[in-house]
Amino acid sequence: MPPFRRFAPLLTLLAAGWLSAVAGASEFRETERFADAVTAVDSYVAQYGAENVWLVVDIDNTLLAMQGDLGSDQWFEWQEYLVFNEPDSPELVAEDFDGLLDVQGLLFTLGKMRPPEADLPAMVKKTQDAGVATFVITSRGDAFRAATERELSAAGYDIAGHAPAMSKAPQGEFLPYELSCIENYGIRPSEAKLFGLKEARPISLEGGVMMTAGQHKGAMLLVALEFADHPPKAIVFVDDHARHVHRIYDAMSRHDIECTALQYKAEDKNVARFRYCDKREVTEKWRRLESALKEVFTLPGADAPVDEAVENPAHATADAAPERAASH
Ligand SMILES: [Mg+2]
Repeated sequence: MPPFRRFAPLLTLLAAGWLSAVAGASEFRETERFADAVTAVDSYVAQYGAENVWLVVDIDNTLLAMQGDLGSDQWFEWQEYLVFNEPDSPELVAEDFDGLLDVQGLLFTLGKMRPPEADLPAMVKKTQDAGVATFVITSRGDAFRAATERELSAAGYDIAGHAPAMSKAPQGEFLPYELSCIENYGIRPSEAKLFGLKEARPISLEGGVMMTAGQHKGAMLLVALEFADHPPKAIVFVDDHARHVHRIYDAMSRHDIECTALQYKAEDKNVARFRYCDKREVTEKWRRLESALKEVFTLPGADAPVDEAVENPAHATADAAPERAASH
């Protein structure tokens, strides 16, 4: 075999590695360490400059996780499964999906959250100190905004202070797109079809936090990029759900934005433990809370709501709520 033929596979590998280093190639993968996101940010900063890089992050089981099982992402997924598949289950906390959103809103209001890794707020700050913008994209709906911002701040995150400028973004709740003229929103008609986009539901985008009410995150990020005063050349995206990681990676690739998309698995042990554990304890906790709230707040002859989140659950969804949220 001629020398060249013998070394050809090695040369091909070296060439591929060199090309990927030069191009700063996009990638998606799993990780349990947020530090990998910081490394990816550093790499893009070296290549494109900090002003051209965004760190884009999910909230539930990424920036924050519930202190206990009640109200956690995994608890919501379980309850959602029961609503649609075992509607007569005695463990259900609500009669239907809207009722479940009411309960989730209440638990977000009352509950406390923590970062999955203790130094996660410091790691986000490190990227912000380097001049990288932070953008948060959550499946939660706008009805949960106050509780969401409170818990982000309590955990030590400063999102608003490092949000990418979006002076064109509407205030308050708004419809992210109209299907009839989807190209005006940064999404090609062929992509709308591919993403399976349906009639849009209201979202909100303020202080660097986009509350998407369970809609396609890839499409939502494309919409956000249309509002950006200075769109990025590269983003690092972190989310615990594979479908969101794939969708954002796919959407960015289609628009020639470098993207390192990481499925963040730091909370996976808690999710798996909850999935297989006896649910009686968490159900009992909810019953005690429900009973105490009823006793304290119910007026004679009235079925009074407990707070604003319960009164106005419209378009809200917890992070776990998939496209089914579209139905309400
Ligand atoms: Mg999540």
